[in-house]
Amino acid sequence: MTLSSQYNVITSPLGDDLHKDGKRLTPQRLKVLNLFENIGSGKHLSAEEVHQKLVKSSSKVSLATIYRTLRLLVQMGLLHELELSEGGHRYELLSNDTPEHHHLICIRCGRTEEFENEQVLEAGKVAAKINGFKLIESSLNVRAICPKCI
Ligand SMILES: [Zn+2]
Ligand SMILES: [Zn+2]
Repeated sequence: MTLSSQYNVITSPLGDDLHKDGKRLTPQRLKVLNLFENIGSGKHLSAEEVHQKLVKSSSKVSLATIYRTLRLLVQMGLLHELELSEGGHRYELLSNDTPEHHHLICIRCGRTEEFENEQVLEAGKVAAKINGFKLIESSLNVRAICPKCI
């Protein structure tokens, strides 16, 4: 079962956790999360794209709210945030089905390709362990220029 199909998440184990942090999956947040679940993993959307899609599906929501909601979902560990070099951010679903992966990002057009690399994961594990940190994820963003933009 997906997280957002379970509307009354407060009673789910994950919902309890989220509640403990003082953060809840409000209907607004679920709507955004749903959108990501519906488009599937491996898609990277900007806040503007999320906003456009929600407005199209007749949700009256401001871009400012979307920004806030996306930031919160990142803090909750439900979305992953990618930073493009010109300050643009993209978001993707962080789920158990998605293998930990890294991104090759075109700094001109934003084209994003995913790749997997064990050594990056290992390096993250080691660094976290040495410093006594609890590991959440290790990901590498590679900024580059795609063939079309060179
Ligand atoms: Zn990705
Ligand atoms: Zn490009």
